[in-house]
Amino acid sequence: MKGSKHELGRVVIARLKYDSELVRSITELARERGIKNATFTVIGAVKRAKLGYYDQKRHEYRSFSLETPHELVSCIGNISLKEGETFAHLHGVFADEEGNTKAGHVIEATVFAAELYLQELVGPELVRKYDEITGLSLWEI
Ligand code: ZN
Repeated sequence: MKGSKHELGRVVIARLKYDSELVRSITELARERGIKNATFTVIGAVKRAKLGYYDQKRHEYRSFSLETPHELVSCIGNISLKEGETFAHLHGVFADEEGNTKAGHVIEATVFAAELYLQELVGPELVRKYDEITGLSLWEI
């Protein structure tokens, strides 16, 4: 396993706007503050969400939607660079009114309320490059 050494940078605490799109909001927040690498968590609630599951044989994402309000029980993610642009990668666990959960790669979600804790990482830029074996854009470390 290869790794790279980073130092902790700024911490950003934010409340994401009602009706905003979760992935875009985090991406824009990082871009506006010049944050190229970070790790973050989000908790809150969403009005709806579209999640992905990566089919490892077909090398493509399958998606499914949550069309009702859900708790955003746990969302973790990171910020890095993909094709020179700020890129946010999020995974989340969502619970319905009975506590049943659905989880996956977050493609998009409409925020009802969301609290973000973002930790900037300072050091070598984490850049995503296409990986032949998985078909994914992975960190080039
Ligand atoms: Zn993912």
